[in-house]
Amino acid sequence: MSPIIDVTDVSFAYGDTPAVSDVSLTVESGEFLGLIGPNGSGKTTLLHIMLGLIEPDSGSVELFGEPIDEFSAGHRIGYVSQQSTSKGSTMPITVREVIEMGRFAHAGSRRLAEEDHAIVAEAIETVDIAELQDRRINALSGGQRQRAYIARALASEADLLALDEPTVGVDAESRDAFYGLLDRLNSDGITIVLIEHDIGVVTDRASRIACINRELYHHGDTESFVESDALAEAYGASGRVVHHHH
Ligand code: ADP
Repeated sequence: MSPIIDVTDVSFAYGDTPAVSDVSLTVESGEFLGLIGPNGSGKTTLLHIMLGLIEPDSGSVELFGEPIDEFSAGHRIGYVSQQSTSKGSTMPITVREVIEMGRFAHAGSRRLAEEDHAIVAEAIETVDIAELQDRRINALSGGQRQRAYIARALASEADLLALDEPTVGVDAESRDAFYGLLDRLNSDGITIVLIEHDIGVVTDRASRIACINRELYHHGDTESFVESDALAEAYGASGRVVHHHH
């Protein structure tokens, strides 16, 4: 089976500022990849390249075995961006309506059917926000909103969830519950790519780690990462390592 994401020798610069240099990596079906690196090391940029949101200056990207230019099954990817915890939208829509949007790619021009509503209800149950579904999306806390966006991805039957620092601004208890949810989804077969600044969270949860600082310092299983010098090398003098305390 081809990897879900396959990036080969990608580089990208914002004008004269190189952000990602010559990175190659794959994301295999069912894995939980932790993407780490110091602040400003190119994590978000690399994730955007991996999802086809930024076109690299050089190199190539395949999604679900297809060259990025030909890939059209966007509903297979759920992306929770860094902004998702902040109140952005002033649209007066409810949580359930946001999650129903996950069915639009499947419904096409027809109205949502009973089956769509059943899938939406199941997604709401899975992320445990049934009591919030009639609230306005922007009346939710950051952590609750993350769950709503994940439910939308589940409703769209995404195979891949990509999350960029999903628990920034979320309290410790909700954070643990959130990572418990990610573990469950991963056990159910959903592939996860997670950017997270807390390295302890990543080494506890991820099956593989990609550690970057513009270039790739490590890509492999978590055990070999912990035993390697990649962390010290990638973080060097340029960043602050955040340790996780149990
Ligand atoms: P990370 O997610 O690891 O913090 P980013 O991918 O956001 O890193 O940023 C990588 C580098 O690119 C940083 O030097 C950052 O300042 C720069 N950068 C990111 N976004 C932009 C942008 N829109 N315009 C110019 N420079 C950017």
